[in-house]
Amino acid sequence: MNIPDSALDALVVGSGPNGLAAAITLARAGLAVRVYEGAAAAGGGLRSAELTLPGFVHDPCATVVATALVSPFFRSLDLAALGVELAHPEVPAAHVLSPDRAVLLHRSVDETAAGLGRGGAAWRRLMGPLARDAELLMPWILGPIPRPTRHLVAAARFGPAALLPAAALARLAFREEPARALIGALAAHAMVPLESPGSAAYGLVLATAAHAVGWPVVVGGSQHLADALVGEIRRLGGEVVTDAPVANLADLPPARAVLLDVTPRQLVALAGDRAPAAYARRLGRFRYGPGVCKMDWALGGPIPWRAPELATAGTVHLGGRLAELASAERSVAAGRMPRRPFVILVQATVMDPTRAPAGRHTVWAYAHVPHGSEVDATDLIEAEIERAAPGFGDLVLARHVRTAAAHEAYNPNLVGGDIGGGLATLPQVLARPTLAWDPYRTPIPRVYLCSSSTPPGGGVHGMAGHRAAISALGREFGTRV
Ligand SMILES: Cc1cc2nc3c(=O)[nH]c(=O)nc-3n(C[C@H](O)[C@H](O)[C@H](O)COP(=O)(O)OP(=O)(O)OC[C@H]3O[C@@H](n4cnc5c(N)ncnc54)[C@H](O)[C@@H]3O)c2cc1C
Repeated sequence: MNIPDSALDALVVGSGPNGLAAAITLARAGLAVRVYEGAAAAGGGLRSAELTLPGFVHDPCATVVATALVSPFFRSLDLAALGVELAHPEVPAAHVLSPDRAVLLHRSVDETAAGLGRGGAAWRRLMGPLARDAELLMPWILGPIPRPTRHLVAAARFGPAALLPAAALARLAFREEPARALIGALAAHAMVPLESPGSAAYGLVLATAAHAVGWPVVVGGSQHLADALVGEIRRLGGEVVTDAPVANLADLPPARAVLLDVTPRQLVALAGDRAPAAYARRLGRFRYGPGVCKMDWALGGPIPWRAPELATAGTVHLGGRLAELASAERSVAAGRMPRRPFVILVQATVMDPTRAPAGRHTVWAYAHVPHGSEVDATDLIEAEIERAAPGFGDLVLARHVRTAAAHEAYNPNLVGGDIGGGLATLPQVLARPTLAWDPYRTPIPRVYLCSSSTPPGGGVHGMAGHRAAISALGREFGTRV
């Protein structure tokens, strides 16, 4: 550690994208900041590792960084100057409707619409204005909602549709199955039943990002993005210490602000009797969501998709028709393992061949599973891929699997394997982690929460950390950003 304890202004516990964003925002204001990370490498959900074989780079957690490209925090950084290169697939995402039939989500709204048959015109009507207004909408959507916005027309196009259950939006907006399933699968990233109010928001945000900025991965692995953020903290005079788990706030050196990149359950444990009992009880009611069973493969060749156009897509959704998707997500929410789970797959080497030896490939996928599940879903996930790509299994050189339960040991923020920092139901999106005008501030003096358990929730955008830092700067240092 280079900064003497007595010179520290602010501390951050946890170096996920939100912790690192918080540290950068604080350091930019001239504060001396130290980040404590419990793991051996910084990055939280933005790490990479050779999980299968030497020479094959895998992202254990986040791999598609679309939300970073629409995030005002990440847009304030010159990623290229920080040495981060992005690789875009020809087609951001695809949805497998049946083993030999896929629907493609292109960068272009028109091209997407052209592939949706009679649903095309409705896709253009719904997504065209949102994609056009993405720059106005995203800073508002990625902040605590509801907040006033100057862009009322754009907000009026997003808000009412976003508040709907995804299944209702799909059926109201589209008459045909391809568009219904496409928007349903995008919304299913939220990991709440597609009948839940507000679940449509995820579908709309992810489709808007695909059209506006694409769904890229980081060349060489997500760790490069985390390392660039750490480099920026150091350039600004801050420091990041790894292998430094914090067990209790009392163990930290004194500082005027402490920002916690942890979930509510950990906050209560870290604070001990510093947390007012009523606040600890409210946080105790915070709900965590379903988990994921995550797989990574080293492959001897590209995936032999039945529908050849899938070879051009970075992300592939395997989930069938809207009704099938909805049924799988309902089961998971009810704590039952579906017979055919929804699988999200990323074939990163299609756009970034540096991640594997020449001619070889890496594949990343997860299935939604019940909270805390110890089920190894390898057979179910591989069966879904094999249906759409017979012969996949013959290409597998090595595989790595992490169950929902095992995720929490990898990163304590992944409670029960929940990758979103808490259930994304509408009430908990609006009041995250509790109902408050400033959701980042806690009643514990000088302590702020800055993880994905605060607005805007899960994803690599750094906006929870950035906004928590702005709150701390204003309240503790009198600095307006
Ligand atoms: C399998 C999986 C796939 C995902 N895919 C994507 C994707 O493709 N795109 C996307 O945008 N998002 C994806 N996500 C979600 C994304 O990774 C998270 O939303 C994001 O990382 C949350 O950032 P965070 O900073 O809030 O927390 P995290 O990234 O979870 O970081 C928290 C950090 O705090 C550390 N920590 C916790 N407690 C302590 C303590 N007491 N002391 C010290 N350190 C501590 C942890 O070790 C960890 O490093 C995925 C997540 C998972 C698990």
